[in-house]
Amino acid sequence: MSGRVVAIDGPAASGKSTTARQVAERLGFLHVNSGLFYRAITWAALREGLTGGDSGLRRWMPELEIEPVVGEGVVDVRVEGEAAGAELQGREVSAHVSTVSAYGFVRDRVLTLLRAAAELADVVCDGRDIGSVVFPDASLKIFLVADVRERARRRLLDYLVEPSDDAISAEAERLGARDRADSTRERAPLIRAPDAVEIDTTNLTPEAVVRRILDLAAERGLSPRAG
Ligand code: C5P
Repeated sequence: MSGRVVAIDGPAASGKSTTARQVAERLGFLHVNSGLFYRAITWAALREGLTGGDSGLRRWMPELEIEPVVGEGVVDVRVEGEAAGAELQGREVSAHVSTVSAYGFVRDRVLTLLRAAAELADVVCDGRDIGSVVFPDASLKIFLVADVRERARRRLLDYLVEPSDDAISAEAERLGARDRADSTRERAPLIRAPDAVEIDTTNLTPEAVVRRILDLAAERGLSPRAG
């Protein structure tokens, strides 16, 4: 039987993962970062020199070993027998992940993995199509948005880069390009499910966002299961 699901969607660097992780911790659920699965596939494909066109990728997909594994408060991804590492968040993977994640056969693979993850535990899952496609019956759906320059500023701070005006402009352009690719692809685009609650985080602290989601969760009767 599948566990309970909170879905958190939104564009790149809108704070989904940080928020999802904290909400999961406070609810006693596990955090599933769906972007990590796309990043892991992209990382493995880059290692094989396979991101150029779809035919090589498509042939290689069935050989790829990838599975969800329960970690400390999270469902992690293991790819080719290795736990996901920090390189998954690097610029090279970020530059290719939207292309790789647009292929239907890649999305089918990740969809199966995410549903398998939700069989393991109650989860807070973040991504682009979680409330719309992966878990359309989720108990609570959130759609996070934030101004693109604010998202760029936060992303630079994550990378430990000084957020000067120029650096923010360059990063905002990269994020904007990824948003456009994710929003306009044919399969499972970034979209707000009609029953998702939108929260604009531009002027909110992370804690305020988490509290708002926990209030909504409580209204829907979501709390840690006793025992
Ligand atoms: O969330 P994160 O930025 O790590 O996601 C990386 C990329 O993975 C996104 O830009 C998008 O192309 C893809 N993705 C997706 N659907 C999801 C989660 C991520 O297409 N549910």
